[in-house]
Amino acid sequence: GENITIKSLAEKMAINAAEVIKKLMELGTMATINQEIDSDTATIVANELGYEVNVKVEEDKEALLMQDHEDTPADLEPRPCVVTIMGHVDHGKTSLLDAIRHTNVTASEAGGITQHIGAYQVEHNGKKITFVDTPGHAAFTAMRARGAKVTDIAILVVAADDGVMPQTVEAINHARAAEVPIIVAINKIDKPEADPAKVKRELTEHNLVAEEWGGDTIFVEVSAKNRENLTELLEMILLVAEIGEYKANPNRPARGTVIEAELDKGRGPVATVLVQNGTLRVGNFIIAGVAYGKVRAMMDHAGRRVKKAGPSMPVEVLGFSEVPPAGELFFAVEDEKLGKQIIDERHNKKRELELKATAPRVSLDDLFSQ
Ligand code: GDP
Ligand code: MG
Repeated sequence: GENITIKSLAEKMAINAAEVIKKLMELGTMATINQEIDSDTATIVANELGYEVNVKVEEDKEALLMQDHEDTPADLEPRPCVVTIMGHVDHGKTSLLDAIRHTNVTASEAGGITQHIGAYQVEHNGKKITFVDTPGHAAFTAMRARGAKVTDIAILVVAADDGVMPQTVEAINHARAAEVPIIVAINKIDKPEADPAKVKRELTEHNLVAEEWGGDTIFVEVSAKNRENLTELLEMILLVAEIGEYKANPNRPARGTVIEAELDKGRGPVATVLVQNGTLRVGNFIIAGVAYGKVRAMMDHAGRRVKKAGPSMPVEVLGFSEVPPAGELFFAVEDEKLGKQIIDERHNKKRELELKATAPRVSLDDLFSQ
């Protein structure tokens, strides 16, 4: 953890160093003014003197850095694009995801398709596309707050009979904040009251201007219900993906994001994760927040067992000690001992934060900041 000298600790509290030394002595520690004490000791002393301590939690950067050595351009290989479908409630996000999945599954996959899945992959013209069903805009924001950039391309679904609604605007803002290109899918064009031109007009006010109106936003008019124009949508996605030139390094320990997770009665914690860099293998030691474990088994979106999962591949993972929260980052650690140290550290940090919450008196912000 972080260390601090008696001198700078005293300075931060704007008290005499002698007072700190005296308090330390009372607590049974002898120290000189230039001596360093650890953050635990500093916290106790500061609390005794009436100060609250905010130990800056550095998301165990050391551990992550060890894992996340810089990939050189030579390490990088093309990977499938990751697409998220966003939009107002009831405009057809789930229906569109389902329609694409059912239209593009091979016979061998069909049997494994379950009612709900957080992420899946389709193949079109020999190219793979990964679709992720974000659990909602709030979760999307939480993911971004954690530094997880899950998606490469956002599909904005707008119902042709309803037009731009509050969550449509929210979705646009989220996609812009994440700096991902937006493809507009005007859905429900099968409905008699559908008015795609109205949707286009309304989106112009949000700087999404169709090509035929002089802009550069791709619009596709679809019907999830009748599975109309889905191929065109996939083609547009591949077109945008080509410009993005998405790459990753498959030859390193995996890291990515937990898309969703639950406790299964028979199988224990089950997490759907998206591998974003590296390759995840059965037997790897993985960490997501304070959940950890050895990957016992992995299944692809069709329920087939796989031994490894490369970049952009979503997989179901068995073997976590507990259910990791959706949106949490995960990473594989080659050295299991190191993995367990990281977990210990994380548990300790959790304790530190709880300690802080119970003992606030006078506030002293960021004790350990420069
Ligand atoms: P979500 O909330 O955005 O995920 O929307 P859903 O996929 O749950 O769809 C909301 C409602 O719209 C459901 O009753 C769907 O059956 C219906 N719906 C979705 N897509 C279409 C479409 O293309 N045409 C028509 N007519 N109805 C649709
Ligand atoms: Mg839905």
